[in-house]
Amino acid sequence: MKTIENIPNKMKSVVCHGPKDYRLETIPVPIINEDEVLVKIEACGICAGDVKSYQGAAMFWGGGVLPPWNDAPVTPGHEFIGIVVAVGDIARKKYGLELGDRAVAEQIVPCGECRFCRSGDYWMCEKQNIYGHQKNIADGGMAEYMRYGSRSVIHKVSKTLPAAEASMIEPLSCSVHTVARANIRFEDTVVVAGMGPIGLCKLQLAKLKNPKLLIAIDMKPKHLELARKLGADVVINAAETDAAEEVKKLTDDYGCDVYIHNSGHPSGVIQGLKMIRKHGTFVEFSVFSGETSVDWSIIGDRKELTILGSHISGREGYPVAIDFLNRGIVKVDEIVTHTYPLESFEEAFALAQKGEESIKVVLVP
Ligand SMILES: [Zn+2]
Ligand SMILES: [Zn+2]
Repeated sequence: MKTIENIPNKMKSVVCHGPKDYRLETIPVPIINEDEVLVKIEACGICAGDVKSYQGAAMFWGGGVLPPWNDAPVTPGHEFIGIVVAVGDIARKKYGLELGDRAVAEQIVPCGECRFCRSGDYWMCEKQNIYGHQKNIADGGMAEYMRYGSRSVIHKVSKTLPAAEASMIEPLSCSVHTVARANIRFEDTVVVAGMGPIGLCKLQLAKLKNPKLLIAIDMKPKHLELARKLGADVVINAAETDAAEEVKKLTDDYGCDVYIHNSGHPSGVIQGLKMIRKHGTFVEFSVFSGETSVDWSIIGDRKELTILGSHISGREGYPVAIDFLNRGIVKVDEIVTHTYPLESFEEAFALAQKGEESIKVVLVP
């Protein structure tokens, strides 16, 4: 075990106890084993999912057909980046990590035993332990220190990026996986709906595929302005115009070839099914806070659509995200709009939830 001097015994941490019951507490700094890593957190982003968990969404706390997934009390946060302050000998060899290195762990902690983990599709792990959601197994990054547990998938990250930008590796890695799923071709009209941090990343990644026309949809002018700057050929404010009609007009009435949905709103699904052409590809990424009803005959009988789901980062997400940020191929400096200390997490969550002035809000311990 290698460790820096002066690691304290106690640290500040946001602790999630239940819906709308998140507290700033002083808790023990995690103790690590020889196959684990302890990092000092530099930054941890607030995901739309974190806000939905805070609000009590069924996907996190159970309800309807969904079993509870959060196991509280737990430190939230899966968009973290940290500096290695202690590393066990096994972990040092396995990941090539030394004290002082910057490192990120993938958000999923694979169980290593289920059929998905064994086949290499570890991001679909049946257990779905994700940092920030299960106490002890997967405490997250909204704290001063964090343990990357033994089954973590860890990547070394260069220190050239500002910390808040490096905390965008997780959302960008999810974006990489979704855009890979979308299978964009040169002649395609691609719609990316929802210009939050992840939508803005997907927009840039879709642009790298050089589609014929790239359209961004959102309801917030600030987000659409940035979308245009980051490569959208056309931006549509769905609060002002009928987005489906607009897209049809731009495509000789056929509709878009690919529709990538990130908004988490039922209206984004309904709108997508309206504006997508026959034989189109619909990729769904959002986390919804409620159920969505649609006419499934559109999917089958009318349009014979390909509907694809996209979950976290896939296998390629993190390595590509780290590489693209290092090479400046994807820009996140204007996506991160606000940083707050841990002490102000309530204010930060409120700002992230409103999402008017902010795009990505990051906590910096
Ligand atoms: Zn997230
Ligand atoms: Zn598994």
